[in-house]
Amino acid sequence: MQPAIKSVKYFSCGYCTNNLGRVFKGMRGEKRKFPAGAFLIEHAKHGLILFDTGYSANICKTGFVGRAYNFFNPTLVEENDELKYQLSKIGTRPEDIKTIILSHLHPDHIGGLRSFGKANFIVSKETINTYKNRRIRDLIMQRFFPADFEDRANVISDKMMVTEVLGALKGYDLFNDGSLILLKLGGHASGQLGALIDNKILLAADSCWGNDLIDLSYHMKFPASLIQDNMREYRNTLDNLKLLKKKGINLVFSHDANNKKELL
Ligand SMILES: [Zn+2]
Repeated sequence: MQPAIKSVKYFSCGYCTNNLGRVFKGMRGEKRKFPAGAFLIEHAKHGLILFDTGYSANICKTGFVGRAYNFFNPTLVEENDELKYQLSKIGTRPEDIKTIILSHLHPDHIGGLRSFGKANFIVSKETINTYKNRRIRDLIMQRFFPADFEDRANVISDKMMVTEVLGALKGYDLFNDGSLILLKLGGHASGQLGALIDNKILLAADSCWGNDLIDLSYHMKFPASLIQDNMREYRNTLDNLKLLKKKGINLVFSHDANNKKELL
């Protein structure tokens, strides 16, 4: 029998630069580039699905919030870093994308949304609530969202998360075939979603900045912890990630520098 998930491809859609010494306690200053990852999943029956959409090349041109974001988080995004351009290079047209899973709504995850006019969005209930009641600290840049964003959003609530994952967590089985299970990875942003694929790979969004930074992330410095939604939940999510890693799951964070373009 053919596997339900045919492939998972990784795209780096621009990056920001940060100094690890400013983020983590006990860490010496080290500048690091954090690519904004987006993922293309091909399901045998349900076609092409995106997990997040990377930065827009217009990230620097978004008024006060954009300028503040770039000041604290210097970004570099060229037009050919945008996801729609990279997809066109492999022969995928925007209208081929029917589903976009959004981990959360920070600008490095939603920059490409307006390119995909035929797609429905999968979001958690907390994410859509954040969108409806957005505050400055939620970093939601309205100009990157299509006008009909809420109409096209399919909302996943906690009540729907009934599938057991490796005896450790509960998730939502998106296609009812066990191939893609959505998990809540709260703490960084309220209701952040991750996607467990084939019980092998967890697309873990911003639940941590990178595989080598999991232990350091328990001890974030004050200004960096301020932009997290809830540090207690963040640490709880780190505990769950470590558990999944122990059980053999390959964690892939949005800001890991992935050399591999084909994850599956
Ligand atoms: Zn984020």
